[in-house]
Amino acid sequence: VVGGCCGTSPDHIAAVAEMADGKKPRQWTEGAATSVPQYALTLSGLEPLISPYTSSGGNFLIVGERTNVMGSPKFAELIKKGDFEGAARIAKQQVENGANILDICFDEALIDAEKSMVHFLNLLGSDPDITRIPIMLDSSKWTVVEAGLKCIQGKGVVNSISLKEGEEKFLEQASLIRKYGAAVIVMAFDEQGQAATLQDKIRICERSYNLLREKLDFPASDIIFDPNVLTVATGMDEHNSYAKDFIDAVAEIKKRCPGARTSGGISNVSFSFRGNNHVREAMHSVFLYHAIKNGLDMGIVNAGMITVYDEIEPKLKELVEDVILNRREDASERLVAHADELKAQGAGGKINSNEDKLAWRKNTVEKRLEHSLVHGIVDFIDADTEEARQKYGRPLNVIEGPLMDGMKVVGELFGAGKMFLPQVVKSARAMKRSVAYLTPYMDQEKAALGASQAAGTFLIATVKGDVHDIGKNIVGVVLACNGYKVVDLGVMVKCEDILKAARELKADFVGLSGLITPSLDEMIHVAKEMTREGFTVPLLIGGATTSTAHTAIKIAPHYEPPMVQVGDASLVVEVCTKLKSPTLREKYVTDLKVNQKTIKERYENNRTTEELLPMEKARSMKPAIAEPVGPAPFYGVKTIEEIPLSEVVNYIDWSPFFWSWELKGKYPAILKHEKYGEQATTLFNDAKALLNQIIEGKKFKLKAVYGYHQAHSTATDDVVLTENGSPIAQFHFLRQQKPKIGEQKYYSLSDFVMPVGNGKTDTLGMFCVTAGASVDAFAQVFKDAHDDYSSIIVKALGDRFAEATAEWLHEKVRKEMGVQESLTPQELIEEKYQGIRPALGYPACPDHTEKATLWKLLKADERIGVTLTESFAMNPPSSVSGLYFFNPEAKYFSVGSINEEQLKDYSARKGISLERAREILGSIL
Ligand code: SAH
Repeated sequence: VVGGCCGTSPDHIAAVAEMADGKKPRQWTEGAATSVPQYALTLSGLEPLISPYTSSGGNFLIVGERTNVMGSPKFAELIKKGDFEGAARIAKQQVENGANILDICFDEALIDAEKSMVHFLNLLGSDPDITRIPIMLDSSKWTVVEAGLKCIQGKGVVNSISLKEGEEKFLEQASLIRKYGAAVIVMAFDEQGQAATLQDKIRICERSYNLLREKLDFPASDIIFDPNVLTVATGMDEHNSYAKDFIDAVAEIKKRCPGARTSGGISNVSFSFRGNNHVREAMHSVFLYHAIKNGLDMGIVNAGMITVYDEIEPKLKELVEDVILNRREDASERLVAHADELKAQGAGGKINSNEDKLAWRKNTVEKRLEHSLVHGIVDFIDADTEEARQKYGRPLNVIEGPLMDGMKVVGELFGAGKMFLPQVVKSARAMKRSVAYLTPYMDQEKAALGASQAAGTFLIATVKGDVHDIGKNIVGVVLACNGYKVVDLGVMVKCEDILKAARELKADFVGLSGLITPSLDEMIHVAKEMTREGFTVPLLIGGATTSTAHTAIKIAPHYEPPMVQVGDASLVVEVCTKLKSPTLREKYVTDLKVNQKTIKERYENNRTTEELLPMEKARSMKPAIAEPVGPAPFYGVKTIEEIPLSEVVNYIDWSPFFWSWELKGKYPAILKHEKYGEQATTLFNDAKALLNQIIEGKKFKLKAVYGYHQAHSTATDDVVLTENGSPIAQFHFLRQQKPKIGEQKYYSLSDFVMPVGNGKTDTLGMFCVTAGASVDAFAQVFKDAHDDYSSIIVKALGDRFAEATAEWLHEKVRKEMGVQESLTPQELIEEKYQGIRPALGYPACPDHTEKATLWKLLKADERIGVTLTESFAMNPPSSVSGLYFFNPEAKYFSVGSINEEQLKDYSARKGISLERAREILGSIL
């Protein structure tokens, strides 16, 4: 057995080994419950478990706990990284060091427990040195247990079942366990909850025993009771007898339930001394000594946290024994005082920074909850929430008391720039976990968290035709952290649905979000409709293409009540606070209006004075290209299914990942940034853990369609695609008209394809790649687990993979086209490659509707499941598409403003009405 976070020394192992084999009988081995009938415990791995009852006369089995993600951060980290081989090495070490049974647990929000369990067990299965000992399948999820039961060898133990959800479920699970031939740990829980007192422990265990024996004829020796090791010396009087109750329960259970075994997770008992291992070790040893004396058969033990009973200093031993056996009323205070003394002396040199990190665990439950919220730590949330629930009586009081107080601190720190977005989102995760813990109790009480308590109701939606929601999700979380009731209608939300919800919810704010330019028009539409229906609620505008200018010029004129463009999620709370405030609102709104009016006026004045070049002139100053490219390796379209994630990951451009979290800077420098560095590093590590899960578990499915067509350009900025000389499709491009100083070239993408009539054929390429619907599906898993933080990271990673796939495919395509190059991933990110892959709807070709032509050619919907919304956004969101221009002269540029002349020309070329053209190109007119 190897120790937990604090490491192991041979002494520790010896101490446990002695306990286990009883060869050097110390006081604790002599009186081992001899009055209880000793049926053989028939567990086995590849080899039968040598039952201590029949061999050496020892009486205690050690359950190795370091393969438990909850107990071992190192193990958890390896699993999250997908390093199952490394994790298996930990299992092996435990066996080598004398563990009799191996407890395996993957219950953690960020881990796919079922999959990991199966994968890990299969891996262990091929190592006879490990699987010679029995496996304990540890999970609170039945599906995980069952998946494990299906692949272990020999006879294992399930940890655990209980009467928590009633007799029927209990018996059903037990009979399945029996069918799979395993033994079972039964926790002392019933429909009312966890047994804390001696009476309850005995009553529940006896009831469980009788049910198992009478209803299922479950073999007594396969029943192992865990009567709950609970924490003592917490400062609450009713906890003082917890250890003694456990010890006494062991003896009584063994008397009343013939043949059954007992077990417990030992380190719980000393939880309140987190940070002081010296005292904890003594507590474990004393506790075990007495429990084993009473017949405890096995324990989940961190061997690194046990000292030899006889070697505990007499004073400490006496104080600890007072606590464990509840021998005096002031036992806890005396031990705490002594522990502080020891700590001051630096006892055993064991107080290191790691322990200091856990010093906060000794604070009051309110402070501990605050700490968990501020630091986004979920590890202790359930236990602390439970403690608070007991202390505060009602779950609602916990939410409105310590949790709200904690979030207030978060809000203040964030407001003061002392916390960053990822931290806030993590805080929200901790908060949600706590609320989730309390929810069943609230349902019992039929009480709901009233909106009256909320700072206000904020309705938020991504507008019709748009699918992007990372920024919106972050805004939602930030608001929720600041006490707002956030109602998120999702993506592609129709105007009438937004208005209906706003009316029904009596929303205090409505927030519209969108990423692509057509969404700007949809926002205008929503603003007009809100006016028509007489709304007065403030409207907040957000998303990548929105701007203060666009909002002031194009949206605000359509809605009289306050309308604010919020450029950063971190600003939204301040905006709402001001809009709500009876004292600040008036001035804020007046300033806002003045500002918006000024922007609009300035724009209109500039517009009338700006001279754009006439089309004829602009066209006469196009760049000329010398040679066509090609031929292409094939003409037509190909699909690539299942592009390896492990290959594409190397093409990821990480900088935009940080931008989506408002950490502004370039990767990798941002990791060392003096202001954001620490946050960026934490975020990056969290993202990498998820990234590994995604790659290891093949969570995303990367697909692509791409193709080549023969092509020529026209004199009027179109590119015609041909097959055997006949036209099959036509792309329409726009040309720069904004006067340039010192530059004589006015670009259109059509310039990068050879004109018709010079006798040579040129080539245009096209593509669409996607990380698929699997991105949102995987993100939802976290969302369902109240973990928005991971959910948002997963979505951001989906986008990263889509962009990286585009980079990967572009490289492959250039190779196919015979381009000689050798570029590093960094050079690819810097666009040092030859040719370009402009995305339709973006600056060089700002008309999103051209994607209709692209889709006709690629059939990306049929081939890889990427569809276009009515606004020509790609769905699923983590998708990228574009055209390939191979000519070495091709470069990215921005069309910029165009005039009425070009608008007319464009609508005629495209065969659409002038009105429609005006709608489509509104943002550059
Ligand atoms: N490495 C970045 C790449 C995305 S931005 C990332 O991972 O996010 C660059 C992409 O946007 C290009 O590959 C191109 O498809 C598109 N793009 C860039 N400039 C453009 C322009 N001027 N017009 C049209 N599309 C452009």
